[in-house]
Amino acid sequence: MSINRRIFLKRTGAGLALGSLLPAYSFAKTGGKAEEKPKYSTLKFDVAVVGAGPAGIPAAIAAARNGAKVVLIEEDLAPGGTPVDMYVTFMCGGPRVGLFKKLVQTLNQRFSVGGILSETFGEAGSDGKNHWWMPASFQQVYHEMILAEPNITLMCGVPVVDAIVAEKGNRNQVKGIRIFRNGGFQHIEAAITVDASGNGIVAATAGCKILYGSEAKSDFNESFGLDVSDGKVQPVTQMYISQRVRKDAVFPIDKFGSGVLEDNHRQWAQEQPREEFYARNTGVFLQWGASVYCSDTTDPVRVAEAQQKVMNNQKKNIQVIQEAGFAVHLAPKIGVRESRRVQGEAVITVDDLFKGVKPDDKIADAHYAIDAWGWNIPYEVKTSVKPYGIPYRALIPLNMEGLLTAGRIISGTRLANSSYRVQPICSNIGEAAGTAAAMAALNQTAVRNIDVRELQKNLESYGLFDAYK
Ligand SMILES: Cc1cc2nc3c(=O)[nH]c(=O)nc-3n(C[C@H](O)[C@H](O)[C@H](O)COP(=O)(O)OP(=O)(O)OC[C@H]3O[C@@H](n4cnc5c(N)ncnc54)[C@H](O)[C@@H]3O)c2cc1C
Repeated sequence: MSINRRIFLKRTGAGLALGSLLPAYSFAKTGGKAEEKPKYSTLKFDVAVVGAGPAGIPAAIAAARNGAKVVLIEEDLAPGGTPVDMYVTFMCGGPRVGLFKKLVQTLNQRFSVGGILSETFGEAGSDGKNHWWMPASFQQVYHEMILAEPNITLMCGVPVVDAIVAEKGNRNQVKGIRIFRNGGFQHIEAAITVDASGNGIVAATAGCKILYGSEAKSDFNESFGLDVSDGKVQPVTQMYISQRVRKDAVFPIDKFGSGVLEDNHRQWAQEQPREEFYARNTGVFLQWGASVYCSDTTDPVRVAEAQQKVMNNQKKNIQVIQEAGFAVHLAPKIGVRESRRVQGEAVITVDDLFKGVKPDDKIADAHYAIDAWGWNIPYEVKTSVKPYGIPYRALIPLNMEGLLTAGRIISGTRLANSSYRVQPICSNIGEAAGTAAAMAALNQTAVRNIDVRELQKNLESYGLFDAYK
């Protein structure tokens, strides 16, 4: 639970006199640590986007092309997020529109794993040709997309450690964030901050209401779900890529039940004939390695424990692959599917997905099955999702100003999240969040007060609503 300045002062017994010596803002989590002298001088932007992943990159680009001065902050040393640092380079769901379509088109044209380049894209970007690409290819295309926007300052290798929060009546306001840079702190001030961190770090440290793990279906009146919450999140998975290094090597497919994807095809190993699997024979495979439950995916120490377990569990498989004449490239980070969700003005429920609700304030289209790993949900239930819309209100955290969320952390139940967490949808949400953030910042208004019809018109002009016209 975050501590704001007022609570800190109350808890420490410091009175009004001390209060007046403190700056106008405080760090939500550390209460009174504003006196820690930053190593670097404060930077100011219209929009700060935290997290350069599938949601954060489109958010930054969308804000920048709308005229905002944007900083895009990433804790890794390179942008890309999950496809780059967790090797999740296979795309699910859609629609594949807007900046996501541009990403996939460029990957198809220049970076096909099997070397078969493709100018075509197919309806909604799903023409059955290329479905995964190398992590480095994502990194390269994302770099180019960011570089093309002179309004974006990219900062990599700088974790955001805290939100800067000002007290404002009943609703506090995020005024920016604090980053850790080269052994010291730096403050970034921004009219609007977009939390696209995949783990809700800004929202959590600012004191927003956080959802984590399964809720009971009665919590948000869902027709399907658990009777009693078990608090679980989806298991984490160590992804890797195996690559032939011995000329005569044949991939030992029969040692693997599932989770191996050859260069260009959609099917998972067990669903296709062996001839088809070997037909292309490029010798490069994307693999879903071992999975384990992690007791708390918001805590890096617990995540490291899970990674150690996984490494141990998949030792044998990796040995089998290596003995068959393949090298294994492990993803640098273990794949964390689920973390915090930030409760917003609206909560997307599984029934919204079943009914295909298109809310009046729709800012993105979405369509994908319910895909909650580790939860045995009947196939008919999983696949009864209709194309649905993401409401703008799901991006606006309850009782907080100056902040929008984007990507997998937006407001929804765990079951709904298991559908909209996929990359095309996260990208569409990010593009909308960046557009909204720029509108609020440049009009000097609150994220709640922007003209949603104008936002929708803008998004329409970027092709974001093309798929279900
Ligand atoms: C194992 C696994 C398999 C998956 N399979 C698929 C699939 O087959 N198809 C599909 O479409 N989707 C799949 N997904 C889901 C999808 O990849 C993610 O949900 C999606 O990438 C989320 O995008 P995001 O931008 O919200 O978050 P992320 O991709 O996590 O990006 C967030 C970024 O924020 C950065 N960040 C985090 N904290 C900080 C901080 N404190 N300071 C600065 N930066 C920070 C991170 O380093 C990261 O770059 C899978 C996910 C996993 C983990």
